[in-house]
Amino acid sequence: MIIILKESATDEQISHVVARVESFGLQAHLSKGTYRTVVGVIGDEAKIQAAPLLAIPGVAEAVPIMPAYKLASRKAHPQPTVVHVGSGDAVTKIGGGHFGMIAGPCAIESAERLDSIAGDIKAAGANLLRGGAFKPRTSPYAFQGLGEEGLKILREVGDKHSLPVVTEAIDPRHVEMIAEYTDMIQLGARNMQNFVLLTEVGKTGKPVLLKRGMAATIQDLLMSAEYVVANGTTDVVLCERGVKSFDNSCRNMLDIAAVPQIQQLSHLPIIVDPSHATGRPELIPACALAAAASGADGVHIEVHNCPEEAMSDGPQALLPAQYAEVAKQIRAVAKVVGKTF
Ligand code: PEP
Ligand code: MN
Repeated sequence: MIIILKESATDEQISHVVARVESFGLQAHLSKGTYRTVVGVIGDEAKIQAAPLLAIPGVAEAVPIMPAYKLASRKAHPQPTVVHVGSGDAVTKIGGGHFGMIAGPCAIESAERLDSIAGDIKAAGANLLRGGAFKPRTSPYAFQGLGEEGLKILREVGDKHSLPVVTEAIDPRHVEMIAEYTDMIQLGARNMQNFVLLTEVGKTGKPVLLKRGMAATIQDLLMSAEYVVANGTTDVVLCERGVKSFDNSCRNMLDIAAVPQIQQLSHLPIIVDPSHATGRPELIPACALAAAASGADGVHIEVHNCPEEAMSDGPQALLPAQYAEVAKQIRAVAKVVGKTF
C-alpha cells in the first residue's frame, strides 16, 4: 500500500502515520518529495485497511497494491482456474480453455418434462443441466419451485443422462440439503450480496455458479466471489447475466465487456447468460455467439419444450431445436478463440 500525505501534512502527522503503520507489524518507508511525502507500506497488505487511514489528519490517499479480492485476483493466482463439476463419467470442466454449455428450464416442473429437455440438450452438446427447485420470484404469489422434490428429480434426471447438475440456493437454511443433491450451487443475481448465503455455500466446498447482481459492479462481483473462496470453495464460476439499464427494450443490458475485463482481473472462469440478459428468445443466439467470441468460458441458456406452459421465464426460453442450432454455432465460434470440446 502507498499512503500519500497532504501538502499541508505536519511532521507530527507524518510521524503518527508511521507509528500507525508500525502498530500493524508492518514497516513504513518514508519518501519526502518537494511537495508531498509518501509512505510505502512494506509487509503483508492484508494486515491493514485503507479506509480508516483516510481518517488520520494529513493523509490524502491510501492506495492498496493488491486488490481487495485477493484470493479471486489474477495477481495472486496468474493461471486460470479450471472448475470441475460432477463426478465419475459426468465431469464437466469450465475455464482454462474448457467451455461450459449450461442449459435447462428455469424451474424444475415435473420429472417427465425435465427428462425430455435433458435428453434434447444433451444431444445438442450441453454438458451441464440447470433447473431451479427454489425460485427467487418477484411476486410471492408466483410459482416458488418444487423444493426438495425438485432436487430429487434434478438428481435422477442428471444421472440418467450423465449430466452434472446445477441449481440455485436462495436460503442459507437450505444449503446443506441442496449440497446433497447437486453438483454445483447457483447463487443468483438477487442474492449476489447475501453475504450469509455466500458464506454458507462457500463452506460446502461444492463448485459455485455466482451470477452478477443486476446493479452490481465488476468489483462487487469479485468481492462476492472472494466471500465464497475465503470460506473454502475455490471452484467458482462467475456469470454475466445483464445489468439494469436506462433502456427497457431488453430485460437487462448484457455487459459483454465484463468478460475480458474479468479475465484480466481474476483467474476464475466467467460465463454469459444471454437468456436473463435479454429476456427475448430472438436475441439469445446472437448474444450467445458474442459471448463465445468474447472469450467467455461458457454460456448458460434456458430451454423449455413448451414455453407457454412454463411455470417461470417461459417467454425467454429457447425450444430444444433452437438450442440445438445455436449450440452448434457456439461451439464453432468458441473453437476459433481457442476453446476445446
Ligand atoms: C435463473 O437462473 O433462473 C435466475 C433466476 O437467474 P438470475 O439470478 O440471473 O436472475
Ligand atoms: Mn430463469
